[in-house]
Parts: sequence; C-alpha cells; structure tokens
Amino acid sequence: MVSSGFYLIYKGDNFFDMKLLKDRGIILKTEKSGETSLKVRLFARDSGRILVTAKGARKPESPFFGLLTPFSVVDFEIAYSPYNPFLRSVSRMEYFPKINQDTEKIVYASMLLEIVDKTGMPHEDIETLRLLYKGLRGINTSISSPEKIHWWFIIHFLKNHGVWPNFETCTECQKPLTIAILLPDSGGLFCQDCAGNSQSHGLILSSELRRIIVFLENNPLEKISAIKINKQGAVTLTCWLWKLLSTHYESTTFLNTKKAVERLL
Ligand SMILES: [Zn+2]
Repeated sequence: MVSSGFYLIYKGDNFFDMKLLKDRGIILKTEKSGETSLKVRLFARDSGRILVTAKGARKPESPFFGLLTPFSVVDFEIAYSPYNPFLRSVSRMEYFPKINQDTEKIVYASMLLEIVDKTGMPHEDIETLRLLYKGLRGINTSISSPEKIHWWFIIHFLKNHGVWPNFETCTECQKPLTIAILLPDSGGLFCQDCAGNSQSHGLILSSELRRIIVFLENNPLEKISAIKINKQGAVTLTCWLWKLLSTHYESTTFLNTKKAVERLL
C-alpha cells in the first residue's frame, strides 16, 4: 500500500496541497539538474517508474549526498507538487557494492536497469521489480556469470509480461520444435517447414540453444551456472534474446548499454 499524507506548502501568494508518498525502490539512473541538484529515476514498489528531483543532492552537506547511486535499494519519501515531485528523505537499504568493482558486472547490471527503464509505464509492476532485485543481487554475489544472469532476466521479464513464445511447439503446425525460427513480425517461433520463405529474415535458433533457453526459463537463478555453452553460442544467444526483446519492446532496439556489452563479446 502507498502510505501518504498531506501538508501545506507556501509558495508565492498561494498555499498548495502537497501529497506525501513513502515507497521503496531501486535507483535506475541519476543526472545532474541545475547547479546542485539531481534528477533521480526510480523503479518503486507502489509508484512504478518515477522521476523525482533531489534538491541540493550534490552538495557535500546534503543528507542525500552519496546515497543516490544506481543499483541502490532505497526507502524514500517524496512530495508531489503538481509538476515536479521532489525527494524529501531517503535511506539506503542495500547497494550491491561488488557490482561497481567489476566492468562486466557493471555493464550487464546497467543493461538490466536500462531494460526496465525503457519498457515501463508509471504503474505498479511488482514482479518486474522483484526480478530486477534478484538479477542485481545475483550479479553482486556472483551466483553465476553476469552474461547468464542477463539471459535469465530477459527470459523471465518477457514471461512476466505475457509475451514469452512457446518454445516446445511450432506456432503454425504445433509439431515439436527442434530448430526454432523467430519471425520478428509475429513474435512467434516456427519450424523450418512453416517458416518457409520467411526464413531469410527470421532468426534461427539451433536445437542446442533452444534447450538452453528452455532450461533458463524453467530454473531459478541459483541453478543456471550449470549451463555449458561456448563463446560463439553465447554471442548468438545474446543477439537472439535481444531481438526477441525488441520485437515486443521497440524501445529496447537501441539500448545505450548494448554497445558496452558488444565490446565484451
Ligand atoms: Zn510448423
């Protein structure tokens, strides 16, 4: 539940009702605002994705100073003015310090944040928030490689949003799939016979990679380090999952973090 209250603020000649809201969320990104402030993009339990201003947060004496860093889990209180919600208080619950100590971890964890940031409307999306938390915590504790965790995250993100295709049978003829061909226009998976002439612009997934995806789909994060895959297979799988994601969320076609990941591949 959103816990909220009201208080009056005096501005110029008018008093405005200000709504207070307490929530918990993960910081997705921050950017400088004005001389000393920060704009903070949060993904929160009750509010979904929101943008708030943290006034004076870049001043060393600010109570916010040093707390508003991406990946952090924070309890916070915001005051809603009509156009510009601003942060009133914040306490940091967790901040996954090991992510920032390793380039590969930063790159993949940043991609998780960017996917969440670019795919949501401002409403509650508690399953995605839980998924993001699990992914970041998994990267922080090295439960598996950041690359595998990012595959697992994309798969379960699409499942949560009801757009995960059937990996067992062909969309058209319902026969069991071995090689699966994604036709981006339909978002479905087809056998080679049904994909027909469309194969040329479809994305082919070998039977081995299809099995790995099914394993990722059906297992918790704790088990995915068991996956054995060679470098070429891993690159193909990454490109394939990115394509599937952008088929359903066009806004993820040009993620800023893709370039950083590509440098690692
Ligand atoms: Zn078929």
